[in-house]
Amino acid sequence: MVKQGIYNFCIIAHIDHGKSTLADRMLEVTNTVEQRKMREQLLDSMELERERGITIKLQPVRMEWQEQILNLIDTPGHVDFQYEVSRSLKAVEGAILLVDATQGVQAQTLTTLYQAVESDLIIIPVINKIDLPAADVPETVKEIKQLLGVKEDEILLISAKTGEGVEQLLDEVVKLVPAAKSSAIEADKALRCLIFDSMYDDYKGVVAYVRVVEGAVKAGDGIKLKGTGVSDRVVEAGTFSPGWEARENLQAGEIGYLATGLKEVRQARVGDTIVKSNEKEALALPGFKVPQPKVFAGIYPAQGDEFSKLREALAKLQLNDASLKVQQEQSNALGQGFRCGFLGMLHLDIVQERLKREHKLELVITTPTVHYRISGTNGEVKEVYTPAEWPDPAQVERIEEQYVESEVIVPDKYLGPVFELMKQHEGILTKQEHLGDRRVRLVYELPLRELVVDLYDQLKSATAGFGSLSYELIDWRAAEVVKLSILINHELMEALSLIVPRSKAVKAGRQVVAKMKQVIPRQMYAVPLQAAMGGTILARETLPAMRKDVTGHLYGGDVTRKRKLLEKQKKGKKKMAARGSIDIPPAAYISLLKR
Ligand code: GDP
Ligand code: MG
Repeated sequence: MVKQGIYNFCIIAHIDHGKSTLADRMLEVTNTVEQRKMREQLLDSMELERERGITIKLQPVRMEWQEQILNLIDTPGHVDFQYEVSRSLKAVEGAILLVDATQGVQAQTLTTLYQAVESDLIIIPVINKIDLPAADVPETVKEIKQLLGVKEDEILLISAKTGEGVEQLLDEVVKLVPAAKSSAIEADKALRCLIFDSMYDDYKGVVAYVRVVEGAVKAGDGIKLKGTGVSDRVVEAGTFSPGWEARENLQAGEIGYLATGLKEVRQARVGDTIVKSNEKEALALPGFKVPQPKVFAGIYPAQGDEFSKLREALAKLQLNDASLKVQQEQSNALGQGFRCGFLGMLHLDIVQERLKREHKLELVITTPTVHYRISGTNGEVKEVYTPAEWPDPAQVERIEEQYVESEVIVPDKYLGPVFELMKQHEGILTKQEHLGDRRVRLVYELPLRELVVDLYDQLKSATAGFGSLSYELIDWRAAEVVKLSILINHELMEALSLIVPRSKAVKAGRQVVAKMKQVIPRQMYAVPLQAAMGGTILARETLPAMRKDVTGHLYGGDVTRKRKLLEKQKKGKKKMAARGSIDIPPAAYISLLKR
């Protein structure tokens, strides 16, 4: 038997730069997947992924090339999944930096690239889509040279679509990426596996995707997770072809999966280390973290009687999504629901879509918000996740919020609009430099609150789609924010209240009441709609009364009878107004909660 080397690598690329297409070509030329079973973007298995053309869940695959074993990990490109990507980078020795020749390097790619360089990975720069007429190879080469300090002839030119250059690329992987250590010495050591992903399967339980760093593991071995402290037994060990293929064992250097008897992915988290339960001295690998949610929103069933269905659906999603936080909450307007924490807006979007599609639920989602740290005058510090929990301003000593450092890359002709946009979002420019001849790299510090909701989309529209952005949390800073309370008929509507910067409170208040006036149906009597900060009303509109013509049937000249009837109507309305009950249909709520 030939002694095969194991070469582990991943592809770093911005969304749409051709990562999945390149993976398809690799599967073809290595005959990993039979021709007749080949379909486009084979590794994106979720319906949502295929439809939107994005990779949400990473997918490893084992291939053979020149009698060597190649393990490719296809990583999700979005900033919400940065931590998972960072663990995938720790599972490999090399990375293909794949850049679309019509687009150039994008911000999120850079963030991942920096991490790869920090992890000492061998980087193979590759320019894709050279078959397109719009490809600007010289400019892309210039950017890559500047970024990596490589020579022009070290950059490979390929077309993932036509397959041009793909075989040479695989040759380069074998040539440049160091083979993973699988010598007897490493295999003899105590077992240490890095989990770079985990999922729940109805038949196999929790399946951990691992890089065996040292030692060997097989079905039946007793294992322990260092981070969570959970113990279990390996039910099956195997590799990815790309489906699960059971093997006798997994050894140092290999990438594969371990099926366990565990029931929840949070017991086998990304970044955790698997050791053998009888090898107590084996140390955890560095870098284990539990990523904290950054965006919070309430999720309520549109139909109150679907609460338990929603609870079950969320629990099911959580089995497979260790980052999704869920806590039951009660809202006087929306009834029973859940306060949920997400890694970012894409994560929220995915959860919402899956609840709708896979569980057929109609939902009301409250305005997404970040969380704040509030020090009270009594010396207590608490984290606040909803406007409803916001303390009375008189009891607040200090409010803090998270800041991010954001990297923005834009063509220089859009610099003006981008400066303007970032200023509106309280961005502080800390660095500005050219990237190649026509694009600029900017570094900003700004509040997470301004970034999470839709800055990315706004940047896209300010730059005709050419701008890109990434971010990481840096610290907590003092926040000038206030609670904007929304009152309908003098009644506080917590579900509609917002946390806004003090300087934007009046404007935001006016917008909200104006919108309420449009979408809330008229009542029997006039209804005041107000936005308030503390006890101060910042904005007010009046929803006019719906006047049913009670005198319509009285034709003829009996003025007194008419007046009497109208007065009676007025009295009735007063009574109703005093009761304060207003009927706001769920549809009106939903459109108010939309931005
Ligand atoms: P990903 O988001 O990085 O996985 O990118 P995809 O592989 O989904 O590719 C995005 C789009 O670019 C798809 O429509 C592909 O067909 C197309 N594409 C990928 N590589 C090439 C290429 O080399 N040439 C051309 N013309 N199109 C490509
Ligand atoms: Mg893809």
